[in-house]
Order: sequence, then structure tokens, then C-alpha cells
Amino acid sequence: MKNINKITLKTKKSLTAKDYFDGIKKGNRALLSKAITLIESSNLKHQEIAEELIELCLPLSGNSVRIGITGVPGVGKSTFIEALGSYLIEEKGKQIAVLAIDPSSKKSHGSILGDKTRMNKLSVNDKAFIRPSPSSGTLGGVAKATRETTILCEAAGYDTILIETVGVGQSEIEVKSMVDFFLLLMLAGAGDELQGIKRGIMEIADAVVINKADSDNIDNAKMAVREYKNAMHLFPANDNGWIPKVESCSAIEDKNINKVWDIIESFTNHTIVNNSFSENRRKQSKFWLEHAINTSLMNLFYADEQIKNQLIDLEKSVSEGETSPFKAAKELIASFKS
Ligand code: GDP
Repeated sequence: MKNINKITLKTKKSLTAKDYFDGIKKGNRALLSKAITLIESSNLKHQEIAEELIELCLPLSGNSVRIGITGVPGVGKSTFIEALGSYLIEEKGKQIAVLAIDPSSKKSHGSILGDKTRMNKLSVNDKAFIRPSPSSGTLGGVAKATRETTILCEAAGYDTILIETVGVGQSEIEVKSMVDFFLLLMLAGAGDELQGIKRGIMEIADAVVINKADSDNIDNAKMAVREYKNAMHLFPANDNGWIPKVESCSAIEDKNINKVWDIIESFTNHTIVNNSFSENRRKQSKFWLEHAINTSLMNLFYADEQIKNQLIDLEKSVSEGETSPFKAAKELIASFKS
């Protein structure tokens, strides 16, 4: 792979979507990285190339297991991904792409997720590709970029996509709509509230894994596993017939990482056999179609010169109580349509 990476890169300007595609197919990681930068770019020319490239990559995509991993900062996500990724590469012959969605990265001036220095082993492994969260953009934009990046990574031959996100709310829903399996990492003995875990997140998890089950925390972890197993029973059964599993592990000591993988494998077997694996992906595609239509319409709307002018006046009269927000919206939509 190293030699391929040495292929001379033309300047960004002169590379076509086909150039990127050929490089990505051959496993050229430098080109893959550059292409992802195009996906994340707000430059229209870049977006055009990215769109064409995604179309080219689509037929080669889809042959992977996409796994979402969430949990509060400090729960051990990076350590866990390092352990799971290394296990999958060494024991299962997998190729791993690690992507991150970090809605807070804009505020913290840089990504706190997927940071290469936090995954020392994986970041130097030829079989792993790590991409931090884009450091700017709205959550919707970052999520779209991550989904498109997944397609590129799959075309590049990565068969296991790990998408990391901080367990703080909205980002989980976005991640859930782009992965096959959703894993929630938790700690024993730190109440749900403390961990910022909302009930909604527990409900969408396919597995809850209690991390840091080591040294004097082992008994606590065992107890937490029992508690979460009981709690999971209270949730309605999933449409796909999968009963969420609870396990404990120590990412730092590499303990039980294989058991977590066994759960993921049994999930994929279960859902492939009952067709819900592909059904879920179809539903997700529909969701993203809707998402794309909504975003495009909004962009068109707000970019319209007439709307921009009208909006200034209407905002004023709405804030002064002269017009109702609903009437103002109706007026704006009517003039947009005409
Ligand atoms: P993240 O913020 O969720 O990505 O968490 P990190 O992976 O950065 O881990 C946060 C801290 O917890 C670090 O100091 C890790 O060394 C530690 N840690 C992670 N996993 C384990 C574990 O399994 N056991 C113990 N004892 N510490 C861990």
C-alpha cells in the first residue's frame, strides 16, 4: 500500500473524479483523504467533483458492517476502538475505517474525536484508516459528510466502518441512521444522569457495553451488566427481532473485546437471515433522500434574493408583534413559489 501512496499527486485542481476513483480503488490513502476533504468542502467545484466521485464509488460500496459507537467523553471510546480495531485486523483479517462525528468540535476549535494521537496502534496500521470529525459545519452537514465518507471508504476496501460519536444527544440519532449496529459504551457505578445518557439513546442501542471492567471495578461492572439487562427488558422489542445485549469489557486490558465482536457478528447473522439488515439500509437511504431534499430546499429558499429582502422586513414585523410567525412564513413560501 505504501508504494501506491507514493504515486505522484497532481494538484487538487487538475484531478478529476475518475482520478480520485482510480486511486481510491487501488487503496491510495492519500487520495482517499483528499477526496474526503472535497466532501467536507463548501466550495461548489469541490462539491461537484465529490458528487461525481460518490456516484462512481456507490456500486463498490455497501459491503461492510457499519458500527456506531457512542458514550460520554472519558468512557473509553478511543481506547475501545483501538482495542476492537486491532483485534479485528489481527484476528479476523479485517480492514478498518474509523470516522468521527463530533458536534462540539466547532466550539472546541478542533476535533476531540478520532484524534490520531489517541489511537496510537491503529493510526500506524496499514489496515486502518482514521479520519477525525470535520472541524466545521452543522451537525447535519457533518453527518452527511460522514455518510458519504463511508461510501468512499467502502469503495477503498474497508470492510468494517467504526463511526464514533460523543453521547450527548442529537448526534446519536444521525449516527443511528447511517449504521447497521449501534453500540453504547457505559461505565459502572456512574449513574445514567451523570453519564448524560438519555433514555432515548438506550432505546436505540443494539448493545450496551460496560467498559473499564478491570482491577477493583470488576464487581461493579458485573452488577451494572445485571442492572442494564433488567432495564433493557422494559423496552419494546425491536422490529428486527433483535434483543439488545449487555456485556462488559476492559478496553485497556483487551478483555472481552472478542465477546463484543461476537455480539456484533450474531447481530449481523440474525438480521441478514431475516432480511432486516438490507431493509434497514433501504430505510436509511430513504431517510437520507428526504434529508437531502429538505436541506437543498432550505438552501434554495434562503439563497433567494427576493426572500432575503422580504425576510428582513417580515422578521422585524414578527418581532414587533405586527405579524404572526405563521402568516409571515406562509407569505414567504407563497412568494418563493411564485
Ligand atoms: P473517550 O473520551 O471516550 O474516547 O475515552 P478515552 O479512550 O480517551 O479514555 C479515557 C480515559 O479512560 C483514558 O485515561 C483511558 O486510559 C481510560 N480507559 C479507557 N478504557 C479503559 C479501561 O478499559 N479500563 C480503565 N481502567 N481505563 C480505561
